[in-house]
Amino acid sequence: MSEVLTVRDVRKGYREGQGRIEVLRGASFTLHQGQMAALLGPSGSGKSTLLHVCGLLDEADSGDIAINGQNIGKAGDKARTALRCSKIGFVYQFHYLLPEFSALENVALPQRIAGKGRKESEERAAHLLGQVGLSARLTHRPAELSGGEQQRVAIARALANHPALLIADEPTGNLDQANARLVFDVLLQICQKENTAILMATHNLELARALSRVIEIHDGVVRESRGAS
Ligand code: ADP
Ligand code: MG
Repeated sequence: MSEVLTVRDVRKGYREGQGRIEVLRGASFTLHQGQMAALLGPSGSGKSTLLHVCGLLDEADSGDIAINGQNIGKAGDKARTALRCSKIGFVYQFHYLLPEFSALENVALPQRIAGKGRKESEERAAHLLGQVGLSARLTHRPAELSGGEQQRVAIARALANHPALLIADEPTGNLDQANARLVFDVLLQICQKENTAILMATHNLELARALSRVIEIHDGVVRESRGAS
């Protein structure tokens, strides 16, 4: 299996007043094609910081990140952006769908931006929305969808350009328990079908247990643990 995400001794801190806080003190792990990992840790432990660095949205202070075996350390901004757009999908706690566009258009848009034709983009969008159980909601705008449905559209959109890696930052954090479970199950199923690796920050231990790998952050130290308890 090929390596989708390689993280080697990544360190990152922020300036705080006169001093610095070291948020990540040497994170190292590898995620292979199609693998699914939960990222656990208390609030403020650095989950979002790690996801931003892994998603090439922010730079580490030191250490290496490789996406699909391509080391991004020396890559310029343009190359990083191109790699991010072609290889990584994102889902956040809030859906960030465009309010004026339908579900179908929201999922087609990233493909159009990547240069795909309208017909091809809309066919893929309809297929993905079908996979997340929203075939009957293609023309609905975000405001006409429930919170769980909005998140399912956001998941379909994140996968629109066939990313190798999906980064999800507490994607079910705004949902009630029943909807959280539904959205989580849909996320797992569609990523399995698309062979997309997942790195998902969550507070929900029950959901974390359902993933094949659990990575925990405590006091800046990132380590793999299966128990998730
Ligand atoms: P989590 O997602 O686990 O709740 P974060 O990665 O958001 O944690 O934050 C980790 C720590 O880094 C927190 O103490 C937070 O205040 C700090 N932090 C995060 N982003 C910044 C920033 N841009 N500037 C300064 N400090 C930050
Ligand atoms: Mg966070």
